[in-house]
Amino acid sequence: MRCDRRGFVKASALLGAAAVVPRAAGPAAERQPAKGARMKLTFRPFTAELRHVFTIAVSSRSTTPDMLVEIDYGGVIGCGEASMPPYLGETQETCAAFLSKVDLSRYPDPFELETILDDIDRVAPGNPAAKASVDIALHDLVGKLMNQPWYKIWGYPRDKAPLTSFTIGIDTPDVVRQKVKEAAPYRILKVKLGGTNDREMIETIRSVTDKPITVDANQGWKDKQHALEMIGWLKERNVLFCEQPMPKETPLDQMAWLTERSPLPTIADESCQRLGDVKKVQGAFTGINIKLMKSTGMREAQRMLTVARALGMKVMIGCMTETSCGISAASQLSPMVDWADLDGALLIRNDPFEGATIVDGRVTISERAGIGVRAIT
Ligand code: MG
Repeated sequence: MRCDRRGFVKASALLGAAAVVPRAAGPAAERQPAKGARMKLTFRPFTAELRHVFTIAVSSRSTTPDMLVEIDYGGVIGCGEASMPPYLGETQETCAAFLSKVDLSRYPDPFELETILDDIDRVAPGNPAAKASVDIALHDLVGKLMNQPWYKIWGYPRDKAPLTSFTIGIDTPDVVRQKVKEAAPYRILKVKLGGTNDREMIETIRSVTDKPITVDANQGWKDKQHALEMIGWLKERNVLFCEQPMPKETPLDQMAWLTERSPLPTIADESCQRLGDVKKVQGAFTGINIKLMKSTGMREAQRMLTVARALGMKVMIGCMTETSCGISAASQLSPMVDWADLDGALLIRNDPFEGATIVDGRVTISERAGIGVRAIT
Protein backbone atom coordinates (compact mmCIF):
# COMPACT_ATOMS: atom_id res chain seq x y z
CA MET A 1 0.00 0.00 0.00
CA ARG A 2 1.22 3.46 -0.78
CA CYS A 3 -1.31 5.17 1.39
CA ASP A 4 1.14 6.96 3.60
CA ARG A 5 3.20 9.73 2.15
CA ARG A 6 6.63 8.12 2.50
CA GLY A 7 7.03 7.27 -1.17
CA PHE A 8 5.91 10.68 -2.22
CA VAL A 9 8.12 12.44 0.35
CA LYS A 10 11.07 10.48 -1.03
CA ALA A 11 10.16 11.52 -4.57
CA SER A 12 9.92 15.16 -3.46
CA ALA A 13 13.35 14.94 -1.85
CA LEU A 14 14.83 13.68 -5.12
CA LEU A 15 13.53 16.77 -6.87
CA GLY A 16 15.80 18.83 -4.65
CA ALA A 17 15.26 21.55 -2.09
CA ALA A 18 13.78 23.92 -4.67
CA ALA A 19 10.69 21.73 -4.86
CA VAL A 20 9.99 22.19 -1.16
CA VAL A 21 8.23 25.33 -0.01
CA PRO A 22 10.18 26.91 2.86
CA ARG A 23 8.86 27.56 6.43
CA ALA A 24 6.61 25.06 8.17
CA ALA A 25 4.68 24.39 4.98
CA GLY A 26 6.50 21.10 4.44
CA PRO A 27 3.52 18.81 5.11
CA ALA A 28 1.25 20.96 2.95
CA ALA A 29 3.82 20.99 0.17
CA GLU A 30 3.91 17.18 0.24
CA ARG A 31 0.22 17.22 -0.60
CA GLN A 32 0.46 19.31 -3.73
CA PRO A 33 -0.41 17.12 -6.72
CA ALA A 34 1.59 17.24 -9.92
CA LYS A 35 0.32 19.87 -12.36
CA GLY A 36 -2.53 18.72 -14.61
CA ALA A 37 -3.00 15.63 -12.46
CA ARG A 38 -6.01 13.37 -12.93
CA MET A 39 -7.43 10.94 -10.40
CA LYS A 40 -6.70 7.26 -10.88
CA LEU A 41 -8.60 4.58 -8.98
CA THR A 42 -6.98 1.24 -8.15
CA PHE A 43 -8.24 -1.58 -5.94
CA ARG A 44 -7.18 -4.95 -4.60
CA PRO A 45 -9.05 -7.69 -2.72
CA PHE A 46 -8.18 -8.21 0.93
CA THR A 47 -9.39 -10.79 3.43
CA ALA A 48 -9.88 -9.55 6.97
CA GLU A 49 -9.03 -12.41 9.34
CA LEU A 50 -11.14 -12.38 12.48
CA ARG A 51 -9.55 -13.03 15.85
CA HIS A 52 -12.49 -15.29 16.80
CA VAL A 53 -15.25 -17.02 14.89
CA PHE A 54 -18.02 -14.43 14.98
CA THR A 55 -21.63 -15.57 15.33
CA ILE A 56 -24.72 -13.40 15.03
CA ALA A 57 -28.38 -14.34 14.66
CA VAL A 58 -28.11 -14.82 10.89
CA SER A 59 -24.63 -16.27 10.28
CA SER A 60 -21.20 -17.36 11.55
CA ARG A 61 -17.77 -16.70 10.00
CA SER A 62 -13.99 -16.39 10.56
CA THR A 63 -13.06 -14.00 7.73
CA THR A 64 -14.64 -10.97 6.05
CA PRO A 65 -14.10 -10.30 2.33
CA ASP A 66 -12.86 -6.77 1.77
CA MET A 67 -11.55 -4.49 -0.98
CA LEU A 68 -8.83 -1.88 -0.45
CA VAL A 69 -9.05 1.12 -2.74
CA GLU A 70 -6.67 3.95 -3.58
CA ILE A 71 -7.18 7.16 -5.51
CA ASP A 72 -3.89 8.57 -6.78
CA TYR A 73 -4.09 12.25 -7.66
CA GLY A 74 -0.69 13.29 -8.94
CA GLY A 75 1.10 11.51 -6.10
CA VAL A 76 -1.36 12.33 -3.31
CA ILE A 77 -3.10 9.12 -2.31
CA GLY A 78 -6.55 8.71 -0.79
CA CYS A 79 -7.39 5.36 0.85
CA GLY A 80 -10.75 3.64 0.99
CA GLU A 81 -12.24 0.29 1.85
CA ALA A 82 -15.27 -1.89 1.18
CA SER A 83 -16.07 -4.46 3.86
CA MET A 84 -18.53 -7.09 2.67
CA PRO A 85 -19.89 -9.53 5.27
CA PRO A 86 -21.42 -12.28 3.08
CA TYR A 87 -24.99 -12.02 4.44
CA LEU A 88 -25.27 -8.48 3.02
CA GLY A 89 -24.93 -9.68 -0.58
CA GLU A 90 -21.86 -7.89 -1.95
CA THR A 91 -18.75 -9.88 -2.86
CA GLN A 92 -15.21 -9.07 -4.00
CA GLU A 93 -16.41 -9.94 -7.51
CA THR A 94 -19.41 -7.59 -7.49
CA CYS A 95 -17.26 -4.88 -5.92
CA ALA A 96 -14.50 -5.27 -8.55
CA ALA A 97 -17.12 -5.22 -11.32
CA PHE A 98 -18.58 -2.00 -9.91
CA LEU A 99 -15.21 -0.30 -9.40
CA SER A 100 -14.15 -1.23 -12.95
CA LYS A 101 -16.98 0.98 -14.19
CA VAL A 102 -15.82 4.01 -12.19
CA ASP A 103 -13.72 6.44 -14.24
CA LEU A 104 -12.40 9.23 -12.02
CA SER A 105 -10.01 10.53 -14.68
CA ARG A 106 -12.84 12.54 -16.24
CA TYR A 107 -13.10 14.83 -13.20
CA PRO A 108 -10.50 17.60 -13.16
CA ASP A 109 -11.20 18.61 -9.55
CA PRO A 110 -11.47 16.12 -6.66
CA PHE A 111 -13.12 18.83 -4.53
CA GLU A 112 -16.30 18.43 -6.61
CA LEU A 113 -17.46 15.71 -4.21
CA GLU A 114 -21.14 16.34 -4.90
CA THR A 115 -20.85 15.83 -8.66
CA ILE A 116 -18.48 12.89 -8.46
CA LEU A 117 -20.32 10.97 -5.75
CA ASP A 118 -23.74 11.56 -7.31
CA ASP A 119 -22.38 10.13 -10.55
CA ILE A 120 -20.90 7.14 -8.75
CA ASP A 121 -24.22 6.44 -7.06
CA ARG A 122 -25.76 6.26 -10.53
CA VAL A 123 -23.20 3.79 -11.95
CA ALA A 124 -25.42 0.93 -10.73
CA PRO A 125 -28.09 0.43 -8.06
CA GLY A 126 -27.13 -1.22 -4.77
CA ASN A 127 -23.39 -1.85 -4.18
CA PRO A 128 -23.31 0.32 -1.02
CA ALA A 129 -19.93 -0.97 0.23
CA ALA A 130 -18.31 -0.57 -3.21
CA LYS A 131 -19.66 2.99 -3.37
CA ALA A 132 -18.43 3.64 0.16
CA SER A 133 -14.90 2.57 -0.79
CA VAL A 134 -14.72 5.31 -3.44
CA ASP A 135 -16.40 7.87 -1.17
CA ILE A 136 -13.95 7.17 1.68
CA ALA A 137 -10.90 7.33 -0.61
CA LEU A 138 -12.14 10.58 -2.12
CA HIS A 139 -12.72 12.12 1.30
CA ASP A 140 -9.25 10.96 2.37
CA LEU A 141 -7.74 12.54 -0.72
CA VAL A 142 -9.60 15.85 -0.32
CA GLY A 143 -8.73 16.04 3.39
CA LYS A 144 -5.07 15.44 2.54
CA LEU A 145 -5.17 18.14 -0.14
CA MET A 146 -6.57 20.51 2.49
CA ASN A 147 -4.13 19.11 5.07
CA GLN A 148 -7.02 18.72 7.54
CA PRO A 149 -8.89 15.79 9.08
CA TRP A 150 -12.59 15.61 8.30
CA TYR A 151 -13.80 16.15 11.88
CA LYS A 152 -12.20 19.58 11.63
CA ILE A 153 -13.55 20.29 8.15
CA TRP A 154 -17.03 19.44 9.48
CA GLY A 155 -16.43 21.48 12.63
CA TYR A 156 -16.81 18.62 15.13
CA PRO A 157 -15.07 18.70 18.53
CA ARG A 158 -12.51 15.87 18.65
CA ASP A 159 -12.69 15.53 22.44
CA LYS A 160 -16.46 14.80 22.32
CA ALA A 161 -15.92 11.43 20.66
CA PRO A 162 -17.92 8.86 22.67
CA LEU A 163 -17.09 5.59 24.38
CA THR A 164 -17.25 2.65 22.01
CA SER A 165 -18.78 -0.69 22.82
CA PHE A 166 -16.91 -3.96 22.34
CA THR A 167 -18.90 -6.67 20.57
CA ILE A 168 -19.50 -10.14 21.96
CA GLY A 169 -21.03 -12.59 19.47
CA ILE A 170 -23.42 -15.43 20.25
CA ASP A 171 -21.45 -18.16 21.98
CA THR A 172 -21.21 -20.70 24.78
CA PRO A 173 -20.88 -19.45 28.39
CA ASP A 174 -17.17 -20.38 28.55
CA VAL A 175 -16.32 -18.37 25.43
CA VAL A 176 -18.54 -15.48 26.51
CA ARG A 177 -16.74 -15.28 29.86
CA GLN A 178 -13.39 -15.30 28.00
CA LYS A 179 -14.54 -12.48 25.72
CA VAL A 180 -15.70 -10.40 28.67
CA LYS A 181 -12.16 -10.74 30.04
CA GLU A 182 -10.70 -9.61 26.70
CA ALA A 183 -13.06 -6.65 26.77
CA ALA A 184 -11.49 -5.39 30.01
CA PRO A 185 -10.35 -2.04 28.48
CA TYR A 186 -13.87 -1.25 27.23
CA ARG A 187 -16.52 0.34 29.36
CA ILE A 188 -19.58 -0.78 27.35
CA LEU A 189 -20.26 -4.25 25.95
CA LYS A 190 -22.38 -4.89 22.86
CA VAL A 191 -24.03 -8.28 22.98
CA LYS A 192 -25.43 -10.11 19.98
CA LEU A 193 -28.76 -11.79 20.74
CA GLY A 194 -31.53 -13.30 18.67
CA GLY A 195 -30.09 -16.82 18.86
CA THR A 196 -31.47 -19.61 21.03
CA ASN A 197 -29.66 -18.68 24.26
CA ASP A 198 -30.48 -14.98 24.79
CA ARG A 199 -31.07 -15.10 28.53
CA GLU A 200 -28.09 -17.39 29.10
CA MET A 201 -25.83 -14.93 27.20
CA ILE A 202 -26.91 -12.01 29.39
CA GLU A 203 -26.88 -13.99 32.65
CA THR A 204 -23.36 -15.26 31.86
CA ILE A 205 -22.12 -11.71 31.31
CA ARG A 206 -23.89 -10.42 34.39
CA SER A 207 -22.25 -13.17 36.46
CA VAL A 208 -18.84 -11.62 35.72
CA THR A 209 -19.41 -7.88 35.13
CA ASP A 210 -21.88 -5.08 35.79
CA LYS A 211 -20.68 -2.92 32.85
CA PRO A 212 -23.47 -1.35 30.79
CA ILE A 213 -24.55 -3.51 27.86
CA THR A 214 -26.09 -2.64 24.52
CA VAL A 215 -28.00 -5.39 22.77
CA ASP A 216 -28.27 -6.17 19.06
CA ALA A 217 -30.93 -8.75 18.24
CA ASN A 218 -30.02 -8.61 14.53
CA GLN A 219 -33.68 -9.15 13.49
CA GLY A 220 -33.77 -12.28 15.62
CA TRP A 221 -37.12 -11.80 17.42
CA LYS A 222 -39.97 -12.61 15.11
CA ASP A 223 -42.85 -11.71 17.40
CA LYS A 224 -43.53 -8.25 18.87
CA GLN A 225 -44.83 -9.60 22.21
CA HIS A 226 -41.71 -11.70 22.64
CA ALA A 227 -39.56 -8.68 21.69
CA LEU A 228 -41.32 -6.50 24.27
CA GLU A 229 -40.94 -9.16 26.94
CA MET A 230 -37.21 -9.52 26.17
CA ILE A 231 -36.64 -5.76 26.21
CA GLY A 232 -38.42 -5.48 29.57
CA TRP A 233 -36.21 -8.26 30.94
CA LEU A 234 -33.07 -6.57 29.53
CA LYS A 235 -34.04 -3.21 31.04
CA GLU A 236 -33.70 -4.79 34.49
CA ARG A 237 -30.13 -5.85 33.65
CA ASN A 238 -28.53 -2.49 32.89
CA VAL A 239 -28.99 -2.63 29.12
CA LEU A 240 -28.87 0.78 27.40
CA PHE A 241 -30.76 0.14 24.15
CA CYS A 242 -31.82 -2.57 21.73
CA GLU A 243 -30.76 -2.61 18.10
CA GLN A 244 -32.96 -4.10 15.38
CA PRO A 245 -35.19 -6.29 17.59
CA MET A 246 -37.31 -7.59 14.71
CA PRO A 247 -36.82 -8.43 10.99
CA LYS A 248 -36.47 -5.51 8.63
CA GLU A 249 -39.59 -6.73 6.80
CA THR A 250 -41.68 -6.15 9.96
CA PRO A 251 -44.40 -3.60 9.11
CA LEU A 252 -43.40 -0.23 10.57
CA ASP A 253 -46.66 0.08 12.50
CA GLN A 254 -45.69 -3.08 14.41
CA MET A 255 -42.27 -1.65 15.12
CA ALA A 256 -43.94 1.58 16.27
CA TRP A 257 -46.16 -0.51 18.57
CA LEU A 258 -43.02 -2.01 20.12
CA THR A 259 -41.12 1.29 20.37
CA GLU A 260 -44.08 3.04 22.06
CA ARG A 261 -44.12 0.38 24.77
CA SER A 262 -40.41 -0.34 24.96
CA PRO A 263 -38.67 0.76 28.17
CA LEU A 264 -35.42 0.96 26.16
CA PRO A 265 -34.62 2.98 23.02
CA THR A 266 -34.94 0.92 19.82
CA ILE A 267 -32.36 1.49 17.11
CA ALA A 268 -32.86 0.74 13.40
CA ASP A 269 -29.90 -0.98 11.75
CA GLU A 270 -30.99 -3.32 8.95
CA SER A 271 -34.22 -1.23 8.67
CA CYS A 272 -32.29 1.97 7.94
CA GLN A 273 -29.69 1.80 5.21
CA ARG A 274 -29.53 5.16 3.46
CA LEU A 275 -30.62 8.76 3.76
CA GLY A 276 -34.12 8.12 2.39
CA ASP A 277 -34.79 5.56 5.13
CA VAL A 278 -34.30 7.96 8.04
CA LYS A 279 -37.65 9.70 7.65
CA LYS A 280 -39.37 6.35 7.00
CA VAL A 281 -38.29 4.85 10.33
CA GLN A 282 -39.06 7.95 12.39
CA GLY A 283 -41.63 6.93 14.99
CA ALA A 284 -41.04 3.24 14.38
CA PHE A 285 -37.61 3.37 16.07
CA THR A 286 -36.09 5.73 18.63
CA GLY A 287 -32.92 6.11 16.60
CA ILE A 288 -30.74 4.84 13.78
CA ASN A 289 -27.42 3.04 13.43
CA ILE A 290 -25.35 4.67 10.68
CA LYS A 291 -22.69 2.56 9.00
CA LEU A 292 -20.54 3.75 6.12
CA MET A 293 -20.85 0.38 4.36
CA LYS A 294 -24.65 0.81 4.25
CA SER A 295 -24.85 4.55 3.63
CA THR A 296 -22.45 4.49 0.62
CA GLY A 297 -19.85 6.42 2.59
CA MET A 298 -19.10 9.53 4.60
CA ARG A 299 -21.04 12.05 2.54
CA GLU A 300 -24.40 10.36 2.97
CA ALA A 301 -23.61 9.24 6.53
CA GLN A 302 -23.12 12.85 7.54
CA ARG A 303 -26.46 13.77 5.98
CA MET A 304 -28.21 10.91 7.78
CA LEU A 305 -26.77 12.21 11.03
CA THR A 306 -28.03 15.72 10.34
CA VAL A 307 -31.51 14.57 9.26
CA ALA A 308 -31.91 12.18 12.20
CA ARG A 309 -30.96 14.96 14.61
CA ALA A 310 -33.45 17.32 12.97
CA LEU A 311 -36.15 14.67 13.41
CA GLY A 312 -35.30 14.31 17.11
CA MET A 313 -33.90 10.79 16.74
CA LYS A 314 -30.99 9.17 18.56
CA VAL A 315 -27.94 8.30 16.48
CA MET A 316 -25.33 5.62 16.82
CA ILE A 317 -22.43 4.99 14.49
CA GLY A 318 -21.52 1.39 13.81
CA CYS A 319 -19.32 -0.68 11.56
CA MET A 320 -18.75 -4.07 9.99
CA THR A 321 -15.63 -6.07 10.81
CA GLU A 322 -13.32 -3.81 8.83
CA THR A 323 -9.82 -2.36 8.90
CA SER A 324 -8.73 0.88 10.55
CA CYS A 325 -9.39 2.55 7.19
CA GLY A 326 -13.19 2.29 7.40
CA ILE A 327 -13.16 2.72 11.17
CA SER A 328 -11.08 5.91 10.98
CA ALA A 329 -13.41 7.32 8.34
CA ALA A 330 -16.43 6.59 10.58
CA SER A 331 -14.65 8.00 13.62
CA GLN A 332 -14.65 11.44 12.02
CA LEU A 333 -18.43 11.60 12.62
CA SER A 334 -18.31 10.17 16.12
CA PRO A 335 -18.23 13.42 18.14
CA MET A 336 -21.84 14.06 17.07
CA VAL A 337 -23.43 10.69 17.92
CA ASP A 338 -25.03 9.34 21.08
CA TRP A 339 -23.33 5.97 20.94
CA ALA A 340 -20.49 4.42 18.96
CA ASP A 341 -19.78 0.83 18.07
CA LEU A 342 -16.47 1.19 16.29
CA ASP A 343 -14.62 -1.91 17.39
CA GLY A 344 -14.44 -3.48 13.89
CA ALA A 345 -10.68 -3.16 13.50
CA LEU A 346 -10.10 -4.67 16.95
CA LEU A 347 -11.89 -7.83 15.88
CA ILE A 348 -9.41 -8.54 13.06
CA ARG A 349 -5.79 -9.61 13.37
CA ASN A 350 -4.31 -8.41 10.05
CA ASP A 351 -5.18 -4.71 10.06
CA PRO A 352 -3.05 -3.09 7.33
CA PHE A 353 -3.61 0.43 8.71
CA GLU A 354 -3.28 2.47 11.83
CA GLY A 355 -5.63 5.36 12.45
CA ALA A 356 -8.37 5.94 15.00
CA THR A 357 -7.61 4.20 18.28
CA ILE A 358 -9.55 3.33 21.40
CA VAL A 359 -8.11 4.92 24.52
CA ASP A 360 -9.68 3.97 27.86
CA GLY A 361 -12.73 2.72 25.96
CA ARG A 362 -13.17 6.00 24.08
CA VAL A 363 -12.95 6.58 20.32
CA THR A 364 -9.82 8.65 19.74
CA ILE A 365 -9.76 10.25 16.31
CA SER A 366 -6.42 10.40 14.53
CA GLU A 367 -5.14 13.93 13.97
CA ARG A 368 -3.69 13.04 10.58
CA ALA A 369 -5.26 14.75 7.58
CA GLY A 370 -8.06 13.14 5.58
CA ILE A 371 -9.60 10.12 7.30
CA GLY A 372 -6.49 9.89 9.47
CA VAL A 373 -4.87 6.61 8.42
CA ARG A 374 -1.38 5.39 7.69
CA ALA A 375 -0.54 2.06 6.03
CA ILE A 376 1.56 -0.20 8.22
CA THR A 377 2.11 -3.09 5.81
MG1 MG B 1 -26.64 -4.21 14.15
